[in-house]
Amino acid sequence: MKLSSRVSLIKPSATMAVAERASALRAQGTDLVDFGAGEPDFDTPEPIKNAAAEAMRNGATKYTPVGGTDALKTAIITKLQRDNGLTYDKREVLASCGGKHSLFLAFQALFGPGDEVIIPAPFWVSYPDMLMLAGAEPRLVRTTAESGFKLSPQALEAAITPHTKAVILNSPSNPTGAAYSADELQPMVDVIARHDLIIISDDVYEMMVYGGFRRTHVLQLRPELRERTLVVNSVSKTYAMTGWRIGYTAGPAHVIKAMAMLQGQMTSNPSSVAQAAAVQALAGPQDAVTHMVREFGRRAEFVVERLRAIPDIVCPTPQGAFYVFPNVAAYLSRKGAASLKTGDDLAAYLIDASHVAVVGGSDFGYPDHIRISYATSLQNLERGLDRIDTALRKI
Ligand code: PLP
Repeated sequence: MKLSSRVSLIKPSATMAVAERASALRAQGTDLVDFGAGEPDFDTPEPIKNAAAEAMRNGATKYTPVGGTDALKTAIITKLQRDNGLTYDKREVLASCGGKHSLFLAFQALFGPGDEVIIPAPFWVSYPDMLMLAGAEPRLVRTTAESGFKLSPQALEAAITPHTKAVILNSPSNPTGAAYSADELQPMVDVIARHDLIIISDDVYEMMVYGGFRRTHVLQLRPELRERTLVVNSVSKTYAMTGWRIGYTAGPAHVIKAMAMLQGQMTSNPSSVAQAAAVQALAGPQDAVTHMVREFGRRAEFVVERLRAIPDIVCPTPQGAFYVFPNVAAYLSRKGAASLKTGDDLAAYLIDASHVAVVGGSDFGYPDHIRISYATSLQNLERGLDRIDTALRKI
């Protein structure tokens, strides 16, 4: 059977090889330390699970309105006001099956052939493929470790062409953990405003910031950009709910309506039970989030300190998320280890030589880097970093 030309636009993830190797090793009972996870290691907080169980028992097992239940829309609106100081009404929010689905719908609703969308690199692996599936062109703009992997307003301005329609901002970032302060964001937002661009604000890691970092939303800096901004968020990372698949978008009513139309033909509504859980997550007590964020902060410090103690590893301090993105170029193409040409090769070496799973940097646009997730316990971090240290010193 011949596949559509659309599907040939996207490629299988280069990280799959390590993921498959990791599960094979785990199945054999190998003592694997997994730094590959893109999800919190914490369990979903008990009150959230209870809310889902109760909803199920009370008959919330049927289709819901396409864009989410009234209760979930209310909880999303309350959250945006409480945490971000943003005011939306029910016509301006849409619940979907995860932040990934929200972004997919947004791209389908807004972009098409001839449109360029600026993505600061390193970037989350799914942005380019999702844009290409919409027929649009991802325009990758590189940043450097010296700038903490943050885009400068000059680089942003230089990347804008007459075809540029939007910019994706992901702060804190997957994979670098870089987050923009208000001072860093302001000149970027000025450029965006001057060129009438759309902002896709991917806020899924917004709560995970450390070291006293103060988060600022683009729309707090320039509220008038509201009509050109889509705020995308999710309960996945903040509430350790990756498997529940609830994400949401806030934006202009006509865009939300178009996204809901697409969603109606794709999935109908997100899971009714997961929606009830998300209401509890967003509207209930937030103490579990505080606990998780404090723990991630301790781990971030530990990981950076340990990595920097390994000769020639360059690792900027992340402000948030739960990843670090060290440069491993010094360990590539060395005499006696010429087969280690990229971070992906190094990831394969680390899993084979020391049973530590990390993700190679190619999929994020930086082949001489690796991504280490610290969504695992301090004990595991210590064990894994000991192993990485030993394995690298052998190269
Ligand atoms: N955005 C970024 C930057 C991510 O890293 C992820 C998940 O890894 C998502 C969005 C989507 O998350 P979810 O679909 O679980 O809400």
